[in-house]
Amino acid sequence: MNSFYEYIVIGAGIAGIKAAEGIRMVDADGEIVIINGEDRMPYKRTQLSKHLVKGFEKEAFMLHPQEWYEKNNIRIIHTKVKSVSLIHKSLTLFAAGQLQWGKLILATGSSPIPLMVKGNGKNEILYFRNAADADALLDRTSGLQKVIVAGGGVLGVELAAAMNQLGKTVSLVHNDPFLMNRHFDEFQSDHLYHLMSSNGIQLLMHERVKSVSKTGSGKLLVEIGEMIQLLTDQLIAARGVYPAIELARQAGLDTQTGILVNQMLQTSHPDVYAAGDVAQHADKFVSGLWHDAENQGLIAGQNAAGRQIKRSARAYRLKLEVFGQFYFSFNKPAVLPSKDEIIRETNRMYHRFFFCNDKLVGALMLNDRERAKMLEKAVVEAWEKEKVMQSFAG
Ligand SMILES: Cc1cc2nc3c(=O)[nH]c(=O)nc-3n(C[C@H](O)[C@H](O)[C@H](O)COP(=O)(O)OP(=O)(O)OC[C@H]3O[C@@H](n4cnc5c(N)ncnc54)[C@H](O)[C@@H]3O)c2cc1C
Repeated sequence: MNSFYEYIVIGAGIAGIKAAEGIRMVDADGEIVIINGEDRMPYKRTQLSKHLVKGFEKEAFMLHPQEWYEKNNIRIIHTKVKSVSLIHKSLTLFAAGQLQWGKLILATGSSPIPLMVKGNGKNEILYFRNAADADALLDRTSGLQKVIVAGGGVLGVELAAAMNQLGKTVSLVHNDPFLMNRHFDEFQSDHLYHLMSSNGIQLLMHERVKSVSKTGSGKLLVEIGEMIQLLTDQLIAARGVYPAIELARQAGLDTQTGILVNQMLQTSHPDVYAAGDVAQHADKFVSGLWHDAENQGLIAGQNAAGRQIKRSARAYRLKLEVFGQFYFSFNKPAVLPSKDEIIRETNRMYHRFFFCNDKLVGALMLNDRERAKMLEKAVVEAWEKEKVMQSFAG
């Protein structure tokens, strides 16, 4: 195996693949290797939770066909990186062997936050981050009747809806009074609450899973808050993620919640870049959204190859589609109501627009799927209030 590569990318999620694309936009020849810690070719992670009901083939949702990597002279190695040395500009692979890098891009993403609970059933909890987890979830829950999902963010809601549609009796436990509280306002959360419960999902709000114990019959006894105990076949945890910074931290790069990067996505070592869920930006911001990771990957790749592109701190939208309803959130202000906002409710639709100096800076929406792209454009381009009101009239 050739041991020196001009560019090595660790992680073959969207940030890692876009980083390789970014490099190729600038440097047609430099050798690129991507270390892929997963068991299949890079794929669209966001689709996993959205296709559980139908099921999917192993190579479903691929970001690029195999030939694309060959055509662009990008080598993929299927293993994990064990350690990185900044002094020797090298890394060690779990599958044995060392590689030398000229420029390194860390795109290691994030990992599920472990559920901190008591009891002897902890090892039975399922987590969901990658395609192998999706396979394991479908396999483990096949034939089971009762499922509890811990977490009422986007992933928890999607998993609960999917399990319900697969015919299971589902309870969802969320530690906040409102579902999707990070992205939704009370109107949307309330709407989602009624949608989920009218479809038969039991919602336990403002509660936490405290312990999980195995019973003699093979079921799990789950203690929730002070008063509730439920017997279930499977507990799935979706309590959020944390950036996968371990490699960077051990290598001696500056880290806090994520790997600290400047506007050029350069870390504390000038030849090492970080992009996507793992990167922490100057304003302490850590993303967690697909399109942001995509954009960061492209920038980090181009910069590693010699450009000097600054990342703008623009926001990215989040969509949720469950039980035929369409929810949209884009840059929801931390404090609601905000100083300048307009709410519109018509028929089945809902719009809430946030303005700053009469320019659109954020929006929440329900069931206006046809105009979702336009709404995204309106926020990105900061449309004038008048134009927004005309465009979204009726
Ligand atoms: C099921 C699901 C649904 C989602 N839905 C949405 C959505 O609807 N909208 C949205 O905006 N976002 C969504 N997200 C979040 C979105 O997928 C992430 O923001 C995005 O994938 C981040 O991309 P990334 O490349 O930074 O990291 P990741 O996608 O996490 O990829 C990182 C990769 O690095 C690998 N890796 C880690 N350590 C090593 C190592 N030591 N050696 C080699 N490889 C390593 C990992 O195995 C992984 O393959 C969803 C996430 C999940 C899990």
